[in-house]
Amino acid sequence: MLQVGIVGLPNVGKSSLFNALTAAGAPAENYPFCTVEPNVGIVQVPDPRVQRVRELSGSQEYVPAQIRFVDIAGLVMGASKGEGLGNQFLAQIREVDAIAHVVRCFQDPDVTHVMGSVDPVRDLETVELELALSDLDTVERRREKTGKKARSGEVDAIREMAVLDRLFQALTDGEPLRRISFSHKEEVVVGDLNLLSTKPVLLIANVGEDQSHQEAEAFRVAMHNRGPGQSGGTVVVPVSLGIEAELALLEPGERQEFLGELGLDEEVSARVIRSAYGLLGLITFFSANDKQTTAWAIPEGTKAPGAAGVIHTDFQRGFIRAEAIGYEEFVELGSMKVAREKGAIRSEGKDYVVRDGDILLFRFNV
Ligand code: GDP
Repeated sequence: MLQVGIVGLPNVGKSSLFNALTAAGAPAENYPFCTVEPNVGIVQVPDPRVQRVRELSGSQEYVPAQIRFVDIAGLVMGASKGEGLGNQFLAQIREVDAIAHVVRCFQDPDVTHVMGSVDPVRDLETVELELALSDLDTVERRREKTGKKARSGEVDAIREMAVLDRLFQALTDGEPLRRISFSHKEEVVVGDLNLLSTKPVLLIANVGEDQSHQEAEAFRVAMHNRGPGQSGGTVVVPVSLGIEAELALLEPGERQEFLGELGLDEEVSARVIRSAYGLLGLITFFSANDKQTTAWAIPEGTKAPGAAGVIHTDFQRGFIRAEAIGYEEFVELGSMKVAREKGAIRSEGKDYVVRDGDILLFRFNV
């Protein structure tokens, strides 16, 4: 399951975001507990198509696609040098697919700021610096090891050294690695190092209740002023977690009304999840049998065997073919039976690139 880690300085709204995400995930018919550990929550991806597929395929129940959110507390300046819970904190970030970085834009004299004033760009840079320093440490250690081999003439080590030098240069220039594109071969070396600043970032701008728009706008302008290309690999999502906290106390019906009064069309969880989908380039496919219809999140461009592997490794290992039909066509025909009779179910091989909304049945043999 896809994992997103929530990071940021203390008191910026990380727990508030975590609570807003997991509270809004309820009611979860198929997933009784949204918060699986105090700091780990499973959030369902809102998508009405999964219910429709369940109805038409006659499954008893449905399971929406899910994303795991981890509230990673404990970042302080010097984390990369092991200050505070530094090492533990960085190890947790290593595990995630994407980072949701909360920055504080709201002014509130009752909520202390660890750095004494509200300055989202400075905060952002403070956290990025810790991640980059940690990466620099990783790269330097690998350079020492690989350097010895390279000097003794090992061809692979010489190639790896070139990549490490490139990483070292970028990091010392203060450039987060997610903005750099690597060749396929370089990607292998980079992937193996599992560096923190290569991960895509959702920037969650926590704006105040009253001035949401101005503050978010000011932050966007400040980001823009950091220079061209500075936002590569990041998406800014303005939210007001103060409002979310109030929303969480309301009944679902009242929530919708309150949102309407504020001129917002959806809750923060839906917005954050949708942004995460966009940032990570995810699409959804469905599997359906008598028991269960399930929605699965996969990266766009995934081929049929890869999609099969998301359900079960055996499906991928023994992949023969996939029976496929698009969501729109399935809804139009109204049932699998009719779809079959009309010959609308396609038989796709291992090179088939899965499309968003596909309903897939895998044939495999292990
Ligand atoms: P964390 O330390 O980053 O997890 O921050 P918390 O989520 O615990 O929030 C710290 C404090 O800021 C809490 O008292 C929150 O109620 C408050 N807070 C969070 N978001 C907002 C906001 O948008 N507006 C205001 N006024 N207070 C907020």
